[in-house]
Amino acid sequence: MINAPKGTKDLLPGQSYKWQYIESIAREVANLFNAKEIRTPTFEHTEVFLRGIGETTDIVNKEMYTFNDKGDRSITLKPEGTAGVARAFVENGLHTSALPAKLYYITQCFRYERPQAGRLREFHQFGVEFLGASGYGTDAEVITLAKTLFDKLGIKNLALYINSIGCKNCRKKYSDALRAYLKSHEQDLCPLCKERMEKNPLRVLDCKNDDCKKINANAPCILDYICDECKDHFAGVQTLLKDAGVQFKVNANIVRGLDYYTKTVFEFVSENIGAQGTVCGGGRYDGLIGEFAGNDVPGIGFAVGIERLLMLMENTGVQIPCNETVKIYVAPMGEQASQKAFTLITDLRKKGISADFDHMGRGIKAQFKYADKIGAEYVAVIGSNELEKGEVKLKKMSDGSELFVKLSDVSEFLLKA
Ligand code: ATP
Ligand code: MG
Repeated sequence: MINAPKGTKDLLPGQSYKWQYIESIAREVANLFNAKEIRTPTFEHTEVFLRGIGETTDIVNKEMYTFNDKGDRSITLKPEGTAGVARAFVENGLHTSALPAKLYYITQCFRYERPQAGRLREFHQFGVEFLGASGYGTDAEVITLAKTLFDKLGIKNLALYINSIGCKNCRKKYSDALRAYLKSHEQDLCPLCKERMEKNPLRVLDCKNDDCKKINANAPCILDYICDECKDHFAGVQTLLKDAGVQFKVNANIVRGLDYYTKTVFEFVSENIGAQGTVCGGGRYDGLIGEFAGNDVPGIGFAVGIERLLMLMENTGVQIPCNETVKIYVAPMGEQASQKAFTLITDLRKKGISADFDHMGRGIKAQFKYADKIGAEYVAVIGSNELEKGEVKLKKMSDGSELFVKLSDVSEFLLKA
């Protein structure tokens, strides 16, 4: 037997309705905020992610699925959605059209990670990117969009943490201070953080190693280093979130893994799904588009991990509506009845009624069993008597009641039922 690759999952019938539900709510919420869908390729030139994510990140350092194609180009399966959107935004000249561009996507992502609960090698994200607006109102709107999604899905107990990591200028000052502090604790840092400390010390704050966490607890705080403009921006975001009734906590340890973030960063975190508790991560990235175009275009976005979202919903007992029933199952007895059954279901489907019938040549008892399994609301039996009279015996499965209906009247009956 050949198994699916490690860290990938099949989505089976009986489960897929959950995904369709989450996706439909995500689209509905995006519409409420006037965001439009963008779809970008599953793979890009590797360069897109080197520029768009940053060479000091975990993603670029160790998690990308990169290979040379037959034309010897370096290709990478998308590990996240933002870099491809930024590339598409510039390539298609969206920066010259009406701004802000309010975009959303639902996509699979690929990262070579150690698979565990909430961590896969192929996973899915719902993401939002608002490009072209630099004011704090956009930050508040994007955060509110994520919050609206969680509310509409009926998710409670998600903590929202926000922070500001400043602009390029204040980041530089902070990086220097942080590096000096980390240097004085260098011997206790994990090997990776020893490297990070030199290249991008903020990344150390993101480390999950216990020793590094202890050192981080007493590190200088970024909020003491941000400039007045960044401070005002952050204060503005908080005022609007309060006005919108969105509860949050300022958490100076949230720095996010990607290099391109500036100013506001945020995470929605759950205590109900174990170690992989971050369901949504996002932030402002005023320097990203500049990596692809001549000029900078400000932007802000987030991505929600759909697997983690679903885990959270299932672990906390959130109901996911399922309406995967079939209105009618037609149970023929014999060859001639089968032909009639086929004509009947074809007609019913034309009228918008979901219908199924026997494909297996089963006896009538087995057909009823099957109809029950697929959740048929009605079963129509066509035997020799019914054939003769041009009618069906219709059984309502929920209460067992039966009646005879003329073949030509079945659709009318069901449309009213
Ligand atoms: P983590 O710290 O858990 O590795 P991250 O910072 O790498 O997360 P992002 O790049 O911000 O994650 O991606 C946004 C969201 O995508 C995460 O909050 C999470 O819900 C989801 N996600 C990220 N990596 C995976 C993965 N390997 N499997 C499943 N979901 C993931
Ligand atoms: Mg990660």
